[in-house]
Amino acid sequence: MPGFSVTTFGCQMNQHDSERMEEVLRGGGATAVAADDADVVILNTCSVREKAEQKLRSEVGRWAKVKRERPDLLIVVAGCMAQQEGRSILAEMPSVDLVLGPDNIAELPGLLAELRMGSPPLVRTEFDLDAPRFLTAPTTLGERPTAFVTTMKGCNERCTFCVVPNTRGPERYRSSAELIAEIADLVSRGVREVTLLGQTVNSYRDPRGALPRAPEADPGDPDESEFAALLRAIAAEVPGLVRLRYTSPHPRHLTPSLIAAHRDLAIMPHHVHLPVQSGSDRMLKRMLRRYRRDEFLARVASLRAAVPEATISTDIIVGFPGETEADFEETLSLIEAVGFVGVFGFKYSVRPNTPAERLPDDVPEAEKSRRLARVFDVSERLVREHLAQQLGKTLRVLVEGPSKAREENATGRSERNEIVHIEDAARVRSRVGEVVEVTVVEAYKHSLLGRMTEAELARTPEGMPTRMRRALPLLGDKPSPGPRGEA
Ligand code: SF4
Repeated sequence: MPGFSVTTFGCQMNQHDSERMEEVLRGGGATAVAADDADVVILNTCSVREKAEQKLRSEVGRWAKVKRERPDLLIVVAGCMAQQEGRSILAEMPSVDLVLGPDNIAELPGLLAELRMGSPPLVRTEFDLDAPRFLTAPTTLGERPTAFVTTMKGCNERCTFCVVPNTRGPERYRSSAELIAEIADLVSRGVREVTLLGQTVNSYRDPRGALPRAPEADPGDPDESEFAALLRAIAAEVPGLVRLRYTSPHPRHLTPSLIAAHRDLAIMPHHVHLPVQSGSDRMLKRMLRRYRRDEFLARVASLRAAVPEATISTDIIVGFPGETEADFEETLSLIEAVGFVGVFGFKYSVRPNTPAERLPDDVPEAEKSRRLARVFDVSERLVREHLAQQLGKTLRVLVEGPSKAREENATGRSERNEIVHIEDAARVRSRVGEVVEVTVVEAYKHSLLGRMTEAELARTPEGMPTRMRRALPLLGDKPSPGPRGEA
């Protein structure tokens, strides 16, 4: 029985794709093993940042050395870089056996079988434009109360820094019926929180036109989509679902109908990750983001008017071509003005085949580093202030499992996505998958410590069943990696 290992670079979308690869390989009789014992090593790549590409090259180099000792080892390069570079990966890295695009995951077992039968290296990077395929959640689920569900793939925007339109193709959506059926199935297997995934998840349209118009949707607004209608349909048809998150939305699709869904639906969390990328209109225009600073701020204000407790995190790029100190100061002032509670900041790097490739990369590397450090200084202060403000408050926390960092604690997330460690793990763990009320007793750098309220303790049995002790995953205390920085 062949053993495989999957190493994931990049975003949640890639993480989700890796899980789908594992699923199709298990379905074909293979077993997940430690990388050093694997017969097939899959490197699921990211090409959004240059750094991820460098990592891939060094990983392939490492496995090429192992392959010299073990010639039967198969090396697969999958993901965005595979899609982008295609056959040229084989020329540059001759130890690679298979280059696999994100739309070709279902073909993985068959392609590996061909290679084992002596086929020369293969490249499969076709977009499934005519009949989009969406692999569903793995059947091995059941240990976690949270799951990702792919809503759409590809992107119709043309942000000038971004490789995604090339690597993931144009937008293709799953039908709402299929999505609702998958979410209902997940909930029947114990999932309580679903995160809808898509490159611009809130541009969603039901390809079968099955959704009624959402309240406050304006069909004449070019930014309007059917995403709010989808959220409402999921809320109505999957009553066991406790929370419905999504990532990554594009700010221009944060329309009144979506804001109304946040206001009206109890399952919507009080947090949105809303990538802004820059606070300077000049840069936003060069990036082709299709909104101005004042429009972004107006949408944030509307969201906060509807959901006053909502928190917002974002992605920022520093050092985009032509970014002056004044442009950068506008980004800093926007971070302050919004009061983001999380910033995933990146230094601009030229990506192949993007429109920005033609612009001179004229901000020196040291200056990019200085700007990024300033972004983090400001954003970390904002996070600290926000977390300190939670002291003494009672939060509703979905318990996810034991804390990896502190064995005596369990961990979960609040409605606003704060990571909350909860004292008395032995007791809290019996509530995995449930929302419990927790009073915050301490604020850490990126997370909170709380204890269940008296009322909650009264509802919680002492101790924890042994079966659950074994089944639960370990969770760290770092915020989950930001969505890939798209949208
Ligand atoms: S940054 Fe987001 S919206 Fe822009 S092209 Fe990339 S994936 Fe699309």
